[in-house]
Amino acid sequence: MMVADFARLGEELRSLDAGGSDGFHFDVMDGQFVPNLTFGALVLRALRPLTTKPFFAHLMVYRPEALVADMAAAGSDAICIHFEATPHLHRTLQSIRAHDAEAWVAINPATSVEALADALGELDGVLVMSVNPGFAGQAFLPFCVEKVRRLRELMAARGIERPIGMDGGIGADNVAACVAAGASLLAVGSTLWQCGQPLDKAVGWLRGFAPADSPTRS
Ligand code: ZN
Repeated sequence: MMVADFARLGEELRSLDAGGSDGFHFDVMDGQFVPNLTFGALVLRALRPLTTKPFFAHLMVYRPEALVADMAAAGSDAICIHFEATPHLHRTLQSIRAHDAEAWVAINPATSVEALADALGELDGVLVMSVNPGFAGQAFLPFCVEKVRRLRELMAARGIERPIGMDGGIGADNVAACVAAGASLLAVGSTLWQCGQPLDKAVGWLRGFAPADSPTRS
């Protein structure tokens, strides 16, 4: 939703909802962990009554543990923290679950999937960043597709099955490769606003480039 027209945020959320989005992905940026600054829990709270679909709060912030309670109270169904943003990953994941939200971990392009091996049992999903977080509209990094495949193998070797998402630069030219590698949640931003389709048709248009049963979240 960081790509949306902030003056028409509710209207654009409703268009995506009507167009078949599976949920809504909010990039919360603090101007420290990433250079940009976006919005916080108040915006999620304001939009929450407009849809029953899941809200995914992607916290690109240092010390995400400080935001967990507010984000959960604002109606986040999933709260995603960055591996690189806290020395207390395990404790923060436990805190998110204690607030009845799914606990997800995001990893930057340069962070190896193996770094998560000992945390897999404490998380509900992994978001593999396919751009360096901080700005919308960046080019997709193709090597991140292979990371999804390696993460799927790492989970299988440990007898753990969790959803894997991808975030950044997802579009018509790479959506099929992401799904084929094992990604089941795709956070799509710029593509939906720039594909030349009306917003309520954009999700359906993008689904046309992916296998039939794959989810696409915006
Ligand atoms: Zn995101």
